[in-house]
Amino acid sequence: MTTLNRQFTQQTERLLARFSLAIGALVLIGLSIGTWLDARHEVEAISEILATRVEADFDSLGREAQSLATSPVLISGLMRQDKKVGWQDPSTTALKHASGRLFCLFDADGEPVPAGVVPLAIPRTQLQSVLSSGTPAALALRGTEGEPTLAFLAPVLAPTSKRPVGVLVGRFEPLKSLVSGSWHPGPGDEIRMRLAHGSNRADSGIAAQWRRWQTVRAQRTISGLDGVDGAQLTLSVDRPSQRILLTIVGGITSLLAFLGLLRLQIRRWAHQTGKRITERLDQLSEVCLRIAAGERLLPAQDPTTDEIGVLARVLRAAMQAQIQLTDQLEPAALVLRNVQEGVVVTDATGRITQVNPAFERMTGWQTDTLLGRQGGVIYRSMDNPHQAAEISEAVRHEGLWRGETRIICANGSALPVLLSIAAVHDSDGVRRGNVALVADISEARRISDRLRKMALTDPLTGLPNHAGFEPQLRIALRGVSSDPNQPSPTRIALAFIDLDRLKFINDLFGHRVGDEAIRRVAKHLRAALPEGAVASRRSGDEFLLFVPFAGSHEAVSTLFARLLDNLVLEDAQLPGGRLTLSLSIGAALCPDHASTTADLMVAADSALQQAKIRGRGRVAWYDVEIGRQMQARRRMENHLRNALNNRDIKVSYQPEIDLRSGAILGFEALARWHDPELGEVSPTDFIPIAEDAKLIDGVFDAVLQLVLSDLPRLTNRFAGIRIAINVSPCQLRDDRLAVLLAEHQRRLPNLGEILDLEVTETDFASDESGISATLRALAGLGIRIAIDDFGQGHSSLARLTSMPISRLKIDRIFVAGLDQGPQCAIVRAILGLAEAIGLEVTAEGIERPQQLEILRALGCVRGQGWLFSPALPIDAAMQLPANLLNPSPPQKQPRTTPCLLPIPC
Ligand code: C2E
Ligand code: MG
Ligand code: MG
Repeated sequence: MTTLNRQFTQQTERLLARFSLAIGALVLIGLSIGTWLDARHEVEAISEILATRVEADFDSLGREAQSLATSPVLISGLMRQDKKVGWQDPSTTALKHASGRLFCLFDADGEPVPAGVVPLAIPRTQLQSVLSSGTPAALALRGTEGEPTLAFLAPVLAPTSKRPVGVLVGRFEPLKSLVSGSWHPGPGDEIRMRLAHGSNRADSGIAAQWRRWQTVRAQRTISGLDGVDGAQLTLSVDRPSQRILLTIVGGITSLLAFLGLLRLQIRRWAHQTGKRITERLDQLSEVCLRIAAGERLLPAQDPTTDEIGVLARVLRAAMQAQIQLTDQLEPAALVLRNVQEGVVVTDATGRITQVNPAFERMTGWQTDTLLGRQGGVIYRSMDNPHQAAEISEAVRHEGLWRGETRIICANGSALPVLLSIAAVHDSDGVRRGNVALVADISEARRISDRLRKMALTDPLTGLPNHAGFEPQLRIALRGVSSDPNQPSPTRIALAFIDLDRLKFINDLFGHRVGDEAIRRVAKHLRAALPEGAVASRRSGDEFLLFVPFAGSHEAVSTLFARLLDNLVLEDAQLPGGRLTLSLSIGAALCPDHASTTADLMVAADSALQQAKIRGRGRVAWYDVEIGRQMQARRRMENHLRNALNNRDIKVSYQPEIDLRSGAILGFEALARWHDPELGEVSPTDFIPIAEDAKLIDGVFDAVLQLVLSDLPRLTNRFAGIRIAINVSPCQLRDDRLAVLLAEHQRRLPNLGEILDLEVTETDFASDESGISATLRALAGLGIRIAIDDFGQGHSSLARLTSMPISRLKIDRIFVAGLDQGPQCAIVRAILGLAEAIGLEVTAEGIERPQQLEILRALGCVRGQGWLFSPALPIDAAMQLPANLLNPSPPQKQPRTTPCLLPIPC
C-alpha cells in the first residue's frame, strides 16, 4: 500500500523536479542572455572608455608635441650648425613619458636629429608636407612589430625663420599605453587595435567567424584623431565566451545548489506535512475501523480548523449522535438478536430490509440473500394459494394478520410457522412497512400430528380407533345418495364385528395371545378391505368396518361372509400352535336401515347382538324386528330418563338368609320401575339401557338414597343385617362411585359396616378399565364387595385372590340345576374354592326345598331366593319375620307376603 504521506512526498518531488527543470531552463536562458548582454555591454563600455582615452592621449600628445616644439632649447638646437651638439634627446630626458610616448626630432631637411637616430619610420612626404606647410599633422603608422602607432608631427618654428626649422614628432602606441595604464581589462579580455587606410576592411574568413562566436566583441572606430588623414583606427575589445560560460556555469551551479537545497527543504517540509496529515488521518481511520468493529468510541477532539479537523469534528458529532441512537435502540436490537422467534422487517413496498438471527437459524436463509426480496414470496400456505394476498390485504386494512402458514426455507422445505404481521407507522402516521414475528411450530405441529394420530389410532392394531373412524364414516355417509332415482346410488354398509370369546382366550392363554388374536383380526380385515372401505378397532374385541358400494349389497354380503373364513391365529403358545378365531358380525345399510352415523351404528350393533344371540360366528343383517326392538329401546330410554327425574325408581328388598338357621342376614336392594305406559319394567331390561344411555349413575343414586332413608327402619327391625346394592361394572371404571360413597360415609360413619356392593362376575373378570383400583378404594371404606352371578363368566381364579372380594353369589342357573350332576359339581367346586380362599358364598335363586337341602348338604351357609322371599317393598320387607325358616309360632306381626317355602316353617 502506498501511504498518503508517500504519495504526497512523491507528488511534491515530481512537482519539484518539473519546477526545477523549468526554473533551471529559464534561468539558464535568462542567465545566458543576461550574461551575454552584460558582457557585451561591458565590453562596449570598455571600448568606449578606451577609445576616449586614446583620443584623449592623442590629443594630449598633440598638445605636448606642439608645446615642446616651441621650446627655445629645441629651436636653438635645431638652429645650430652642429645639430648634434647641445641637443638633448627628448626621449631620454624630459620628453620621454612613462605613458609610452616617444618623441623624435627632424630637421628642416627632414633628417633625424641627432642624425642616424630614426625611432620612427615617418614617411618623408609627411615630414616634407609639415615642413612646407608649417602646420602640424597627425599620422597613423604601423610600428616595427606591426602594431598601430599614432604620431603627431608638430613643426618647430623659429622666430627668425619663416620656415619651420624642424619637425617634432611625437608618437605613442595606444595599445601599449592602454595596457600599461592604470586601467586593466577584465581577465581574459583582449584588446585589439587595427589600423586601416582607405576603405574599412572588416575581419572575414572562418577564423574571424569562429572568433566572433567564441568572443563577445565591442568594436569602435576612434574618430577623434584630428589630422590623421585617410587612416582609420579601430579598437575592439574581445571577451572570450569561456568567461561567459564560466559565469553561466557558475550561475547554474549556484542555481542547482539553491534548487537542491530548496528541494531538500521542500521535500522535508512535504514529508513532515504529509506525515502530520497522514498521522491525523491514520488516527481518524483507526477510530473509524474500531467503530466499524463495534467499539463505542469517539474521535479525539481536534481544535484545528483545517479539513481534517472539520472531518474529525463532523465524525465525532455523527458518532455521538450514533451512540445516543444506539443507546436508545440497543434494548430493541438486543431483543431482536436474542428473541427466539424470527423477525422479518419489510419496507412500505414489501421488500425485506431486516431479518434477525433467529429467522436465519429457523429457515437457513442468509440475510444478504433475503434483503431486497418481496416478503410475501417466502410465505406459502399449503392449503390456501391466495393466502399471501389475503395477508397483505388484512395488514393493509386492519394493520394486523395472525395465523398459521408455512415459510419456504433455503433448502426448499416448507416450515410450519405461526405468523404475526403488524403494520409499522412512523410518528406522522405514515406506514413505513411491516414487521413479522415468526414462530416455528413445526415441533408443536409434529407433536400434535402425532398426538392426533395416536388419538385416532389404535396402538395395538394400527387401525383407526373409534375417534378416527367415526369422522370418516360421517364423511362417507355425506356422499350417500338418497335419491332412489339415480341409476346407481352410493350406499354404505357398516359392520359391527366382534371377536368371539376374547376373554376366554385371554384367561386361557394370557393377554399376549389375546393381543395377538386382536392383531390377527385387524390384519384379516385389512387384507379383505375393498377400495374406499375403512376398518377400525372400536374397543376390546369390537371392530367396525364400513364399505361404500353401489347397486346390490350382495357383494358386500359375500365380503362379510368371507370375513368369517380362514381366520386362524398361529402362536407357539397355543395347543397345536394354532387357534381358529371366530367373528360375529352385525351389519346395517345406509340409507336403507339408518341415515345418521349414530343410528347406523346402533342398527349394526343391534344386528351384532342378534348374531351373538343366534350363536356367534355368523353375520346378521339388521332387519325390521331388530329395528322395532331398537325403537322400543329408545322409547324405554326416554321413559327411564323421565322416571329418574320424577323419582319413579323405587327399591325392593330381597332377604338373604342363613340356610342353616333361617335368620335374615341382610337384604339385596333391587331397583323397581313402574312406568305408567310401559308398566312394570324389569331391571334386566332397563339396567342395560341405563348403562348404554349413561343413566346408570342416576339409577344408583336413586337406589342409594332410598336405601339410606330405609336403613334406620331396617336395621332397627333386623339387627346386624347388611344391605347389598347392585352396581354396574361400568360404574367401577372411574372413581365417582368411591368419591360418592366416601362423602356418604362422612355423614354415616358406620356405612362400611352395613353396605355391600354386588358386581357381576363377567365384567369383573376383565379388569381392563382399572376396576380393581376402585374396588380397593371401596374396600378401604369398609364396604364389602360381592361377585354377583358368579359362574356365568370366566373369572381368573388368580385374580379373585388378589382382589378385595368378600363374597361370591353363585348364579341362579347353577342353583336351578343343582339336581343335575354337573351343576352340583360346579357348585361344590365353587364352595370349595371360596372356602380355600376365605370367601363367603351366597346361593342365588333358591326356589325349591330340594335346592335348599342340597345346598345345605354341600355346606352352603347363605342363600337367597323366592323360596324364602321375593324382593319386597320396604313396608312389606319390614313385615318379614327375623327367621324365615323357623318363624315364631305366635306371630305378632301379620305376614303380608306369604312364605313360599313349601316345607313346614
Ligand atoms: P341380581 O343382582 O342377580 O338380582 C337377583 C335377581 O334374581 C332379581 O331380579 C330377583 O328378583 C331375582 N330372583 C330372586 N330370587 C329368585 C328366584 O328364586 N328365582 C328367580 N327366577 N329369580 C329370582 P331382578 O330384580 O329382576 O333383577 C335382575 C337383575 O337386575 C339383578 O340381578 C341385577 O343384576 C340387576 N339389578 C337389579 N337392580 C339393580 C340396581 O339397582 N342396579 C343395578 N346395577 N342392577 C340391578
Ligand atoms: Mg344382585
Ligand atoms: Mg344375581
